[in-house]
Amino acid sequence: MRPVAFDSTTSPGGAERMSENAHPSPLLALFEAAGDLALHLDSQGCVTHVAGLERVPGLGDGIQVGRSFFELFDDESRGLLQAALEAASASKLRIPLGLPLRAGWVADMPPHSSLQWQLSGYEAGGRRGIMAVAQQLSLAPDQVMAPALHDALTGLPNRQLLEDRCAQAIAISRRQDRGVALMLVNLKGLRKVNDALGVRAGDELLATVGQRMLSHLRASDTVARMGADEYGLLLPDMADPARVLKVGQQLLALLEAPFTLCGTEVHVSASAGAALYPRSGRSHEDLLLGAAAALKASREAGGGRCVLYDQEVRADARVALSIESALHQGVNKGELYLDYQPLVDITGKLYGAEALMRWKQGGTVQVSPALFIPVAEDCGLIHILGAWALKAAASGISRINQEKHTALTISVNVSPRQFRGSRFLQSVTDALALSGLPPELLQLEITEGTLMTDPESAANLLSGLTDLGVKVAVDDFGTGYSSLAYLKRFSLSALKIDQSFVRDLPSPKDLAICRSVFSMTRELGLRSVAEGVETEAQWHILRDAGCDAIQGYFFGRPMPLSQFASRVTSGLEPPAQPSHTKAPPP
Ligand code: C2E
Ligand code: MG
Ligand code: MG
Repeated sequence: MRPVAFDSTTSPGGAERMSENAHPSPLLALFEAAGDLALHLDSQGCVTHVAGLERVPGLGDGIQVGRSFFELFDDESRGLLQAALEAASASKLRIPLGLPLRAGWVADMPPHSSLQWQLSGYEAGGRRGIMAVAQQLSLAPDQVMAPALHDALTGLPNRQLLEDRCAQAIAISRRQDRGVALMLVNLKGLRKVNDALGVRAGDELLATVGQRMLSHLRASDTVARMGADEYGLLLPDMADPARVLKVGQQLLALLEAPFTLCGTEVHVSASAGAALYPRSGRSHEDLLLGAAAALKASREAGGGRCVLYDQEVRADARVALSIESALHQGVNKGELYLDYQPLVDITGKLYGAEALMRWKQGGTVQVSPALFIPVAEDCGLIHILGAWALKAAASGISRINQEKHTALTISVNVSPRQFRGSRFLQSVTDALALSGLPPELLQLEITEGTLMTDPESAANLLSGLTDLGVKVAVDDFGTGYSSLAYLKRFSLSALKIDQSFVRDLPSPKDLAICRSVFSMTRELGLRSVAEGVETEAQWHILRDAGCDAIQGYFFGRPMPLSQFASRVTSGLEPPAQPSHTKAPPP
């Protein structure tokens, strides 16, 4: 059907139901010819003419002049319908619409049938309006048993309905040059709730999570249940990546607030990945794939945040494969080793080192751990690498302690998958046994995300480590989890405030954050360590703000064990240099 123009002064005739207003006969002729049922709507969606109603038995009196077109459809379709009407009205192009009719009105319709609408805008004689023409579709026998469009447990639309709506939203946006966002949200903690409180509590959690997200979104947005603990969100008319990320973060924060299930307060967390039409993909399949890749990236980074599918995520997936095979070769060829970066107390006195993994690919190219550690995580190599780093670092510092008669500590980073691995505690025990290092001199650095991905098992692991006498520090503090509740839950020994809060000191906001973190750690009986200290001025500011210990280029870059050992002999005083200068390159 093409957009039509009509002369509003022409007399009607032949319409099933009609308005008191004069009716255009050419329009009616088109109505008659166009399909099974044709409606004329004003710009508000109010029905002004009806034709062909008798051809769709079962619709009853639902469609009448003067009633709203919106009444035909479920309330949750309202947003999409509004967008479709606006698109039809603004663009004068034909908009397909396949929304399910409101329950009850369809009850009398012949089985195996549904309505497919086409909306077209027109303007004639100074009047704007919309033609809505419906074809009654008879479904093929193999479609008769088509699955329901809603999830039985939560009442939310299911994956199929979300995909249909996404395809429609893209069709509308294409015409209006607008954006569409598709977001996947993965809930963490459902299994824990099922195990502890029973599946009914788990079911309640799933339904409440859906409602909580719905309450935060616009009427035009859709929240669907995609799988066991995964939700799909369709956000039409969303083009700005920053806005999508903000909505994602707000939703995740919303889900971090406690749920009361069967009278018990329960905490869960979630991760989100989003893809945008048209920048991430041009079809709903593209958006789903993109959102899934972004969700994976978010979970791999420890979860708790929303990641947008973009060039970076796409490139990452390709690059990761090639890094993975090179890394396997690198491990076999012995290209990996550890560097040691000094840790000093606030007076500048050396008390230990952090072991940092290094990979010199092919003996020449230095690959950043920020690049290869996540790949090692992904392919499982981290279990071997992590266990090796623990043994090598503990043995290295133990040798120095024996030679120099010192009691230096060694900090070793532990990545999320390594931490959750079944042999992790054993690998710590092995490292202590092999090196002879007193357990209290070994400190494991774990990020907030690692602790919070599965807090229950994290708590068990941490108490296992405490039993061994090993210490645990929270690395990159302030960049991950937004709740501080975990600080009282886990037994920890130090917080390492992330270098992003140190870099711009004395910026007043950073200083305020540093001060409150230091005072909190003091109150909690923990040691505070500032990362990334590059200047004397930063050191002094941190000292005055109440920080306990420092790590950074100003006191020493990561270095080989032999070089670190020689610094131990020298006592490692801070280098004498003006406060405004940065440490020289290594
Ligand atoms: P991290 O544990 O937070 O380590 C501190 C990072 O900050 C190191 O980067 C260190 O070289 C860098 N750094 C230290 N002082 C300064 C400074 O003054 N200025 C600046 N700009 N940077 C400074 P690196 O060595 O590239 O390591 C990056 C991350 O890779 C580490 O962050 C850690 O998360 C991970 N990583 C390193 N080694 C291991 C390991 O053995 N196992 C695991 N699982 N992760 C590791
Ligand atoms: Mg660290
Ligand atoms: Mg750090």
